[in-house]
Amino acid sequence: MIEKLRKQLFDLKYLFTILFLLPLVALFIIATFFLPSLFNYLAFGSLILLAYLIPLSRQLTRSKSHVILKLQGLEERKNLLTVERRQELLAIKSFREKIINFSELKMFTEKIGMCLSLEDTSKTLSEEVNHLLGNKDTTVILYLFHSRTGELGISSSQKGQMKVNIKSKKGDIFDEWIIKTMQSLLVEDIRSDYRFDMEKIVSSDRVIRSLISVPIRVGNKALGILRVDSPCARAFNTQDLRFLTTVGDIGAIAIENAQLYETVEQLAIRDGLTNLFLRRYLMDRMSEELSRSLRRKQPLSFIMIDLDNFKQYNDKFGHTAGDIVLRTVALLLSEFFKEPGCLVCRYGGEEFCVLLPDCKKEKAYELAEEIRKKIANQIIILRRLKTRITVSMGVASFPLDAQIKEELIQRADQALYQAKDMNRNKVVAA
Ligand code: GH3
Ligand code: MG
Ligand code: MG
Repeated sequence: MIEKLRKQLFDLKYLFTILFLLPLVALFIIATFFLPSLFNYLAFGSLILLAYLIPLSRQLTRSKSHVILKLQGLEERKNLLTVERRQELLAIKSFREKIINFSELKMFTEKIGMCLSLEDTSKTLSEEVNHLLGNKDTTVILYLFHSRTGELGISSSQKGQMKVNIKSKKGDIFDEWIIKTMQSLLVEDIRSDYRFDMEKIVSSDRVIRSLISVPIRVGNKALGILRVDSPCARAFNTQDLRFLTTVGDIGAIAIENAQLYETVEQLAIRDGLTNLFLRRYLMDRMSEELSRSLRRKQPLSFIMIDLDNFKQYNDKFGHTAGDIVLRTVALLLSEFFKEPGCLVCRYGGEEFCVLLPDCKKEKAYELAEEIRKKIANQIIILRRLKTRITVSMGVASFPLDAQIKEELIQRADQALYQAKDMNRNKVVAA
């Protein structure tokens, strides 16, 4: 439309010029060569023409500036519409991205909500973060604080489709920064980020150029760190960091739930005082172990342990001191019987037992004798006094002494009583 108006204006201008000039030139030619007297008429005619053309030109100038103004207005509107359209396109794009993000988050929440164990939850979290934010070069690492020691350690890690082995198990300077500040971190290029010491970064075992990392926490309780790093510079932006923060918040709740679930599970099978397995758990495992021994035609040994004259300890030092003795013996037992498959349990009050799969009676006796000496030599300080405790033990084996678990326990118990009768601090084999 603007172009059309411009063209119209142009055409009018030239039409008037031609209309005015052509007769004038013709008259001049005729007057000069054929009728000089006509020259006077011509001059007069020209004056009349001029008198007509001057206001016409003024009018034309006025309408020209009016059209120019209209043109500028239209141009302005066009610019405004272009900006509006661009903004609308951007809004549509970001809206579309948000919808995608929401549906991805929904799927992620559903997946992680189905995990019960901590191992499963950590694995799903790092896999999903890798799927949502990563590519084949990026590495996702989930660090968690150990529930008992409080130390930071890698719970799961993922690079592309693979689980990756990371040497620096306790994190690097970026993870230290997160622990110190408890804030999210975006490093676009570590070479130009002067918050961190380049030398320490270079000595790291992997090539890292950029990263995003967020603390995993529920309320004020810090659970760990969720981090994504890349060997390429500027692999992440603030939007990625915001997304990781949301994913981390959802993951934090799932991790806390998994930790609570595991605590409850442990409470059901472990003794609160000594952290050893309970008798109920032993009975379940014993059935499994006996059928496995039967299948594989392997022996299985069982040791019953009872603290000697423990009542006297309680009477002399009090119940709390007695608990310290129980914990000390439990720790010595679990540190001694570390072999995979060995099961150390608190059978009852001051009685413990050990299940030794694939272990002959002679070997079990030797082990029992060794730990008996260890316990007897252990100094326990109670009320600033150095004390010692001794234990009596009974050993029985499958299939030599018994065919079923109840019988095996009974035979070991009988041997234990014999040890008690032999003045205690003894090991007796059934
Ligand atoms: P023996 O050498 O014949 O086994 O003598 P003992 O004194 O150890 O045997 P007894 O069965 O008479 O005493 C066991 C004591 O263990 C009684 C009880 O007060 C104590 N006991 C059982 N469970 C606990 C516990 O959880 N904490 C403490 N402090 N004492 C316990
Ligand atoms: Mg007893
Ligand atoms: Mg006892």
